Amino acid sequence: MNVSLPACIESLELHLRCLQRTGLRFDGLAAQRPQTACALTPEERLAALYSENAQCRRCRLCSNRTHIVFGEGCAEARLMFIGEAPDSASDAQGRPFAGESGQLLTRIIEAIKMQRNQVYLTTVVKCRAQPDDPGEDAIEACRPILQRQIEIIQPEIICALGPAAARALQGQASGANPARGQFYRAGAVPVMPTHPPELLLLRPELKQETWIDVQRIQRELESKPSREG
Ligand code: SF4
Repeated sequence: MNVSLPACIESLELHLRCLQRTGLRFDGLAAQRPQTACALTPEERLAALYSENAQCRRCRLCSNRTHIVFGEGCAEARLMFIGEAPDSASDAQGRPFAGESGQLLTRIIEAIKMQRNQVYLTTVVKCRAQPDDPGEDAIEACRPILQRQIEIIQPEIICALGPAAARALQGQASGANPARGQFYRAGAVPVMPTHPPELLLLRPELKQETWIDVQRIQRELESKPSREG
């Protein structure tokens, strides 16, 4: 993988910050042993993951992209929204759910009494797919990035936006779709599949089903104790 100079510098800075936290001191060439284990914050780990993949060319979608769309939001979010692939507005801005469908998603988030910056938003593949279906090969190639994001953030619930996202979180790029509106588990994390916001723009009559699904998410979150800090 090609890694840019800014990405190298960012990774080095994160590593040095980590070493400083351990209490490591250099005296000439002799280094003292660290007193504590290195522990980057989730935000720093996400930044490092982004740096590692900012120039990713593991699949053919890299030739479609203007920007890689990694994800944004709270690094310790209780709730993650995972769509399928960046749309044209997201590709242009480098932000997930950046266009009209993103504005609708923001309103959906606010309807369950959360703010967009309290959740984490990303997609199964990080580069724009043309045509819209990214394909099994791209989903599999990009899966390690998504898995690492979920491991770092440790959400209590994931909302899968669209059948391809729901299938990918189930560990399969093809096959039967998980039932919309029914929780299933991806490892230890409950996943609620619902309609993607771009479909709701085309078919507003489906908004009621999505409203029911996100209310289930809200009730599930409210039944769990809040995370500290
Ligand atoms: S879609 Fe994922 S795996 Fe494919 S090039 Fe983009 S970042 Fe890399």
